[in-house]
Amino acid sequence: RDMYGDRLNSLGRDYSRQEDRDTHLQALELVDREKLTSGPIINGRMQAGINAEDVTNPYWRDDILGHVSEASPEDIDTAIANAGRAQIAWDRKGGHARAHVLRAMADCLEEDLDRLVALLSREAGKTLNDGVAEVREAADFCRYYAMLAERDFGGPEALTGPAGETNKLILHGRGVFACISPWNFPLAIFTGQIAAALAAGNAVVAKPAEQTPLIAAEAVRVFHRCGLDPNLLALLPGKGETVGAKLVSHPGIDGVAFTGGTETAWAINKAIAARPGPILPFIAETGGLNAMFVDTTALREQVIDDVLVSAFGSAGQRCSALRILYVPKDRAQILIDGLKGALDALVVGDPADPATDVGPVIDAESRKILEDHVARLEKEGKVLARGNLPEEAARGDLFAPVIAEIPTPDFLEKEVFGPILHIYRYGPNELKSVTEKLAGRGYGLTLGVHSRIEAFADQVIRLVPAGNVYINRSMTGAVVGVQPFGGEGLSGTGPKAGGPNSLIRYAAEKAISNNI
Ligand code: GLU
Repeated sequence: RDMYGDRLNSLGRDYSRQEDRDTHLQALELVDREKLTSGPIINGRMQAGINAEDVTNPYWRDDILGHVSEASPEDIDTAIANAGRAQIAWDRKGGHARAHVLRAMADCLEEDLDRLVALLSREAGKTLNDGVAEVREAADFCRYYAMLAERDFGGPEALTGPAGETNKLILHGRGVFACISPWNFPLAIFTGQIAAALAAGNAVVAKPAEQTPLIAAEAVRVFHRCGLDPNLLALLPGKGETVGAKLVSHPGIDGVAFTGGTETAWAINKAIAARPGPILPFIAETGGLNAMFVDTTALREQVIDDVLVSAFGSAGQRCSALRILYVPKDRAQILIDGLKGALDALVVGDPADPATDVGPVIDAESRKILEDHVARLEKEGKVLARGNLPEEAARGDLFAPVIAEIPTPDFLEKEVFGPILHIYRYGPNELKSVTEKLAGRGYGLTLGVHSRIEAFADQVIRLVPAGNVYINRSMTGAVVGVQPFGGEGLSGTGPKAGGPNSLIRYAAEKAISNNI
């Protein structure tokens, strides 16, 4: 509970209970029967848009879930103009009134949990547990940022000053934020960006990922239904090169929040810099070359469990996921044997089935990049083990998880986004040079350590840049308010999501020195 007595972290489902499984099946059936639509949503109404396309299920490509149309240039202009007008009143309402709406958004998400989980599995290939965790995280963001809205935007902060003068600091919204979100958390990160921008007193035009427009449209409908002024949140689906590019260079935008690949973040940063007019705040959360360092004192079973979750959970499609496991040479074989056994037991398959551990990767392009990378590993490194694919794998984009050994500690130049675990065996005096090489790549997102020696953990933490460090546990699944999430360097600008400083860059500050 937070300081106001509100429940902060959302509650889940228990699929070992027949009742919860039945509710899930009913929700799936409903979603399957419906013809789902997404498109530009402006002032709460779905527009015709342009270039309509089918949206398909990554597990089974013949399963057409619905369709999406792209926002036209006129849609973008209209949405931004509407949002700009609505923002002024929203900002004036202050933090307490905005918090009220954000809490209603959280409640509505929880009410619709089963439907949202069904959609997440059909459109984004999320397993049930990942789907539930995602809805909970989305609700958590709304409640946590509601709490920050009250804390930081509840009224002026009194400052000191000379006698006779009053000094105060006021935080207010910047205007209209463009929020550009990824397909790997099409509900949680989509909602997190929107909730942060709204909490700080901004209006939002949101561009969802091309692969996941249906869940985004559903979320926007939920938020409008629960009392958010529809003009404060427009949905503008479409491609990065068209809708994204127009958004970030639009004169009506006052800030950009982006989560996705490092290369796209660079491109957006350039577009923002080239744009005439005010200098915009840019909040980017990107990828990582996330490593876990194990020493000889680590507990084998615990390492295996945590590596499995961190590398293969969510089909490795988390920016926090473990990519490179560094193990001491003389402990490597016993760990690798255990990991191979555990990999063999993983169920790869239909994400909507409660028995599935690993669902599909997001699309054919992504699967091809991963298969090409495996081919490189076969040539230059060594593939140690591969998971099992079910018979129906060819229907969609299932990808068998891989454990591979890399020949040099800095073999990976950039993030490979999927369930591929790279292992490097380090020698007794190699730790320093290995960490230097890793640090030289410039990323800094998550870092795992498995050891029972504090000095070892301290040393690794000092040598490897990271925004989130996890010692003797898995290194994914940051919880709002518990592990504020985000990196440094090539991994992002900050502020972290779900932390006490999250709203600062969404806001402008005004200091008033009064001598009346
Ligand atoms: N916050 C997520 C986690 O801790 C990762 C977010 C992302 O993949 O962008 O696993």
